[in-house]
Amino acid sequence: MTNVVPILMYHSVKEDPPATTRKLSVRPEQLRSHLQFLRENGFTGLTFTDLCNRARHDACDMPERPIVLTFDDGYADVHEEALPLLAEHGFPATVFVTTGWLRDSGMEAAGRPLDRMMAWTQVRELADAGLEVAAHSHSHPELDQLSDRALRAELIHSRSLLEERLGIEVPSLAYPFGYSSRRVRDATAEAGYQQAAAVMNAVAERDADPFAVPRLTVRRSTSPTLFRRIASCEELHRVFRIDRALTNGWTVVRRSRSLMRRVRRG
Ligand SMILES: [Zn+2]
Repeated sequence: MTNVVPILMYHSVKEDPPATTRKLSVRPEQLRSHLQFLRENGFTGLTFTDLCNRARHDACDMPERPIVLTFDDGYADVHEEALPLLAEHGFPATVFVTTGWLRDSGMEAAGRPLDRMMAWTQVRELADAGLEVAAHSHSHPELDQLSDRALRAELIHSRSLLEERLGIEVPSLAYPFGYSSRRVRDATAEAGYQQAAAVMNAVAERDADPFAVPRLTVRRSTSPTLFRRIASCEELHRVFRIDRALTNGWTVVRRSRSLMRRVRRG
């Protein structure tokens, strides 16, 4: 039985992305070859929520080689480029949408989108096509830097908008920047989410914290060989040590920053 499940994190899928999303985007041909590899090697795609539900309630009901594909932010190219490729290869995915960034969010517009985002009709089409649409906050802030009140608003507003506009349930969240503190994870649970995806570049163990489910970053620079290793959970130590160090460094910077704020406030 499988006890590790790779959860892949993509962002934009675009031939020629702007500098703002370039490193975290992949070319459509890259995604096509990833999906081809997964299909040819007997992987079964699950949505993020589906995986968490199975892990929680019925771990025996796990397919032979499960894998989860996720796409963060809600770029228009996920609808235009990724959706047809996913459909062609028979893989579901979870799309974590920043609701205030959507192209026609109108009065609800919030934050600064990094590229052309989906419109609500496109988000609806993803859901209608069987993809999971889940939350990624409303304005994409650093959640741990917010007041309790603002944090709660970010968590609740994004989910309510998705649930109201699409008529779906939204039990899952991905933290903006993949980062969460203990306070953020507690607030996420209190806001009614069942689980949340982080970015720690480690594989998900079955007994992992459901509010810090780790994902593996797929980038433009991810070679076919590296992708195969990521999907197959091979050489994780070598591959992910660098990322883990980066994440830790960032956490230290952020901690000292909020400490400085507290000092200034005090
Ligand atoms: Zn994001």
